[in-house]
Amino acid sequence: MNDKKEIEEKIQKIIRKFADKNPCGDGKIKLLNRRYVLLSTDYFPFDLTRDLEELFSAAGDAVLYKGGEKIGRELYEHYLPIAREYGIDIWDIISAVGWYFGWGTGEVVERGEQGGKYRIRVYDSFEADSFKRRVERTEKPVCHFMKGVLNGIVEGVEGRKYKAEEKMCMAMGSEYCEFVFEPMH
Ligand SMILES: [Zn+2]
Repeated sequence: MNDKKEIEEKIQKIIRKFADKNPCGDGKIKLLNRRYVLLSTDYFPFDLTRDLEELFSAAGDAVLYKGGEKIGRELYEHYLPIAREYGIDIWDIISAVGWYFGWGTGEVVERGEQGGKYRIRVYDSFEADSFKRRVERTEKPVCHFMKGVLNGIVEGVEGRKYKAEEKMCMAMGSEYCEFVFEPMH
C-alpha cells in the first residue's frame, strides 16, 4: 500500500510510455486515438446525479452504475492489448489512464486469489469531488458511476460476475473512496 504521492509517481512513469504529447490540435481533444470532452466538476456529475435521484430515487443511482459498468468492460477490452504490448499489469494501466484523464488516483490495495475479492482505493474521485464542491458532506457514498466502471473492469479481468460496494466515500468526509468487489456465486 502506497500513499497518494507514491502512486502518482509510479503512474506518471507508466503514462509517459504511451500517451500523446500534444492532445489539443484542432479544437478537438484527442488522446490515445479517441475524442474527449471536458466538463467542470462544479456541476458534473453533481447535477445529473441529483436530478436522477429526484426523478427515479435509488433507480437513478443504478442507472449511473449500469452505465459505468458497460464502460468499464469496454475499457478493459481497449486497454488489455496496450497492457500486453508494453508488458504492464492491466491494473497499473487502468490506474495510469484514470489519473491521466482526471478521474482520480487509484490503487488496488487487495486482490485475492484468482476470482477472489478486490479492494480498490481512489483518491480525488471526480464524482466525490463534484459533491464536495456543492454540499458540506453526504450521508451515503456517491460514486455510483466510478463503482460501475471499476466493477466492469474487475469482471473483465476475472471473467466472472462481481457485486460492488463503496464502503467509504470522500463526499462523506473520508480521505479517499474505497470500493469492495466480491465474486457472485
Ligand atoms: Zn466516493
